[in-house]
Amino acid sequence: MHIRDILAQDHTTLSFEFFPPKGEADANVLFENITHLEELQPSFVSVTYGAGGSTRQLTHDLVARIKQTTTLAPVPHLTCVCHKAEEVDEILANYAKIGVSTILALGGDPPRNLPGYRREDDSFQHAADLVRFIRQFNESGRHPDPRGFGIGVAGFPEGHPGTPNRLLEIERLKAKVDEGADYIVTQLFFDNRDFYDFRERCELAGIRIPIIAGIMPVSTATGLKRMAELALGARFPAALLRAVQRCEGDTEAVKRVGIHWATEQCRDLLDHNVAGIHFYTLNKSDATRQIYQSLGLRDSLAVRRR
Ligand SMILES: Cc1cc2nc3c(=O)[nH]c(=O)nc-3n(C[C@H](O)[C@H](O)[C@H](O)COP(=O)(O)OP(=O)(O)OC[C@H]3O[C@@H](n4cnc5c(N)ncnc54)[C@H](O)[C@@H]3O)c2cc1C
Repeated sequence: MHIRDILAQDHTTLSFEFFPPKGEADANVLFENITHLEELQPSFVSVTYGAGGSTRQLTHDLVARIKQTTTLAPVPHLTCVCHKAEEVDEILANYAKIGVSTILALGGDPPRNLPGYRREDDSFQHAADLVRFIRQFNESGRHPDPRGFGIGVAGFPEGHPGTPNRLLEIERLKAKVDEGADYIVTQLFFDNRDFYDFRERCELAGIRIPIIAGIMPVSTATGLKRMAELALGARFPAALLRAVQRCEGDTEAVKRVGIHWATEQCRDLLDHNVAGIHFYTLNKSDATRQIYQSLGLRDSLAVRRR
């Protein structure tokens, strides 16, 4: 189903993110988890895209497998880094062929230590350029849906580290929307006030498309450090850090704290009429299912229904 139809149909979207597994054993575990998560009837699921090499084909393969073997609507991520326009055109043509309806268009972070790589040699320097290219692909009529691909873009409630000027950053987000994005998915955050303020700043800038909140429960103390690295600039509230500290290294306790915190974030977001919640699942199903349970949701339909 086209993302525009999903966004029009669902009061609040609930969606899950996966990354392509490297080996067969990981793929089997992931598919077991996908089967559990499918029961939750999400609006869509998304699959991340690596910085280069063989992991990129794995994104396509996972998307194709989800499409062929489940009822889920997969949204592949696609990035500007390490790509020429012809390669992106081929990727889009392949996704169109298997009936993928939406792409999440991203800048991507330049790979470290790739000999001879120069970012300026890539065809697209910013996600807005990729959004424009996808729109041009759509206009070429090569997608089975006459509207072509729906397009999502990334947003950063606490700002993207590359642009400390917050006014400029929102202008650049607006440029992606003006190029044709249908929705925004945000970077993870732990304090909903950052999301609400971001939503208001988008509104003031004339951004009128749905903004989906990215939620990732803390699962381990080391995971917390990895999240800080991944989401540079994200704030870790003292209350969350205190709660993790009180666990004194008990891994199960940290997990419970993380799930409790994320559940409270979700409850509050639903109370504040969020357009959607996107769960960064890390290819697991437990945490997401427990959050659903604590929210009293048997599946996603209770919040998706208008
Ligand atoms: C929901 C989500 C999913 C993600 N999935 C992936 C993934 O699958 N694979 C992956 O590699 N990464 C992924 N990322 C990370 C993302 O690619 C990086 O954070 C990247 O640095 C920013 O991506 P963007 O799409 O916002 O890029 P852009 O919109 O291009 O912005 C990147 C930076 O460039 C600045 N900028 C934009 N336009 C201009 C301009 N015209 N002139 C100068 N500066 C400009 C922006 O202000 C910002 O600081 C994801 C991030 C999010 C939030």
